[in-house]
Amino acid sequence: MINIPRGTQDILPEETKKWQLIEAKLHELMKLYNYQEIRTPIFESTDLFARGVGDSTDVVQKEMYTFKDKGDRSITLRPEGTAAVVRSYIENKMQGLPNQPVKLYYNGPMFRYERKQRGRYRQFTQFGVEAIGAENPAIDAEVLAMVMHIYQSFGLKHLKLVINSIGDIDSRKEYNEALVKHFEPVIGEFCSDCQSRLHTNPMRILDCKVDQNHEAIQNAPKINDYLNEESKTYFANVKQYLDELDIPYVEDSNLVRGLDYYTHTAFELMIDNPDYDGAITTLCGGGRYNGLLELLDGPSETGIGFAFSIERLLMALEEEGIDLGVENNLDLFIVTMGEEADDYAVQLLNKLRHNGVKADKDYMERKIKGQMKQADRLKARYTVVIGDQELENNQINVKHMESGNSETIRLSEIVNFFN
Ligand code: AMP
Repeated sequence: MINIPRGTQDILPEETKKWQLIEAKLHELMKLYNYQEIRTPIFESTDLFARGVGDSTDVVQKEMYTFKDKGDRSITLRPEGTAAVVRSYIENKMQGLPNQPVKLYYNGPMFRYERKQRGRYRQFTQFGVEAIGAENPAIDAEVLAMVMHIYQSFGLKHLKLVINSIGDIDSRKEYNEALVKHFEPVIGEFCSDCQSRLHTNPMRILDCKVDQNHEAIQNAPKINDYLNEESKTYFANVKQYLDELDIPYVEDSNLVRGLDYYTHTAFELMIDNPDYDGAITTLCGGGRYNGLLELLDGPSETGIGFAFSIERLLMALEEEGIDLGVENNLDLFIVTMGEEADDYAVQLLNKLRHNGVKADKDYMERKIKGQMKQADRLKARYTVVIGDQELENNQINVKHMESGNSETIRLSEIVNFFN
């Protein structure tokens, strides 16, 4: 027997119902905020991620599904959405569109070769948004408000929004220099990843999993002390909007993003439940990326976005015991007795379905009792029994399954009964 690849999952019908409901709600929410859907390929040139996600990141160094295609091109299954959306923005010259900023969202599978655990898969579905073309604290606030709105609209309560500013490119340059100076004397005590990060990506040392308790991490310089006036004002304005919108948040100066193109606002949405005992608490991550478009040879536009996986949203729902209320809502199950009735039911089903009635019948030659059981299992709202007598009299009993009440109607009227 061939098994499913490690870190992937089959989403079976009971679960896909939840996914459909979640995805439908997300599409509706996006309309409220005037974001439009974009669909980019599942695979891209490896270079896009090497540059757009960053050579020094774990994602690029360790986690990408990369292969050569038959034309000897290096191809990678996308590990995240932003780089591809920005590539498409540049390629399609969206900076020239009349409607600015360009507000986009995506929803689709991403691939990372990670260690499997609850909430972490090798194929997962990320929903994300990108607002490109405006550098304005109000759009940062809009994006943060959306994150909260999305999660709260599913009834989730134990949420913590963590924000920080990593300043503009000048601020972070100074900060990086300070970090290098700070870590240089003790870098020999750090893991090999950190040693190689010192000059390529010193901010990443701050969130090293191996050395997180090292004294030098605890007393490292804080980004907030390196923000220039412009960056401080930008951050203050974002926070003022959040206050005005009654969006609670906590600030965490250790929330940094390692790459040069990240600027200003950085944020994460976390599970905040004292009873939660899972290892993974981050639900969603995002931030502003003022240098990314230029890095990918695009115009000097700026953007902000976030992404979360549907898998983690489901995990949070499960944690809080929230039932999405998905129903199996077959309108009608037709029980038949005899060959003639069965043939009639085939025609009738066709007619019902073309009139928008969700209906089904038996195909397993079950006895009446078995057919009734099947109707129960399918949670059909109504059943009818059709036999020779019903056909002859043109009369049937439509039974409401929950109450047990039934009503006699003309067989030829059945479509109208449901409309
Ligand atoms: P990142 O692109 O690493 O900032 O991740 C953004 C969000 O994507 C996370 O907050 C998760 O919701 C989701 N995510 C990232 N990696 C995985 C994974 N391996 N499995 C499931 N969800 C993931």
